[in-house]
Amino acid sequence: RVNREDFLRALDEVHPAFGVSEEELQQVIQNGIIHYDPIVDELLKSGMLFVEQVRTSTRTPLVSILLHGPPGSGKTALGASIAQASEFPFIKLISPDGMVGYSESQKVNAITKVFADSYKSPLSVVVVDNIERLIDWTPMGARFSNAILQTLLENQGRRLLVIATSSLRPILTDLGLSETFDSELRVPPISSLRSLEHVIQELELFPSEQQRKRAMRMLEEAGLGARDELSPKFQIGIKKLLSIIEMARQEPDNVAERLTGALLELRAM
Ligand code: ATP
Ligand code: MG
Repeated sequence: RVNREDFLRALDEVHPAFGVSEEELQQVIQNGIIHYDPIVDELLKSGMLFVEQVRTSTRTPLVSILLHGPPGSGKTALGASIAQASEFPFIKLISPDGMVGYSESQKVNAITKVFADSYKSPLSVVVVDNIERLIDWTPMGARFSNAILQTLLENQGRRLLVIATSSLRPILTDLGLSETFDSELRVPPISSLRSLEHVIQELELFPSEQQRKRAMRMLEEAGLGARDELSPKFQIGIKKLLSIIEMARQEPDNVAERLTGALLELRAM
């Protein structure tokens, strides 16, 4: 069991390790951020408000937010973008992808080390990616929240922004973690043809506007909604949409058909 004493001892043993994991961050936002809907800017702006709060507030130097939404809706990329935009001297991404094969105690150690390192910086952002996978539904969930988060909350006076992401929001309640966050931001999937067209246009999927319009008509006729319709006829995460677009691009003569087919198939599921 990792208890409070272990955690505090670990802090003493840590050598100063300032650092921004540029590579890690770049990797999760390598496809950039497409502003396909006003919500994207709103989310980034909200994130930056919390960054400013951490930078300037004397009362609340420790802020934790949760970005939650369906799989592939862009939570990790948005969290990393906010972290990067903060320009804080310590920025770190904790991801279960980087801990494949770790034992429970190795995971606890890795997580603890990042937070311990962040103590050495006056201003820090830690992105805790896929928090429900990190804590794995195991007793470690309780340990993580009790030992680590409690210790964090007790150490006021340093400036830290925690950005957690999750695609299983309800589980956080089961784990007793829902009260941990000062704020929750929902990252929605793409559900309008307008947003979809924005993405397609930005990625130059079609060589001409005429071809793009033709494809959009095909999508409308396939029942995926009218361009300005508000009631969603489909939902797709930006991550999946990007991969469908790149697949469709491989077959230049049938791009519109491939795209329509993929979206219809998705809807059937
Ligand atoms: P998962 O549920 O699998 O964890 P996720 O919600 O974290 O997925 P990301 O891994 O962030 O989603 O994938 C989003 C991908 O879409 C990234 O490659 C990112 O660069 C790209 N992207 C383009 N535009 C946006 C946007 N507006 N918001 C977020 N990501 C975007
Ligand atoms: Mg993610």
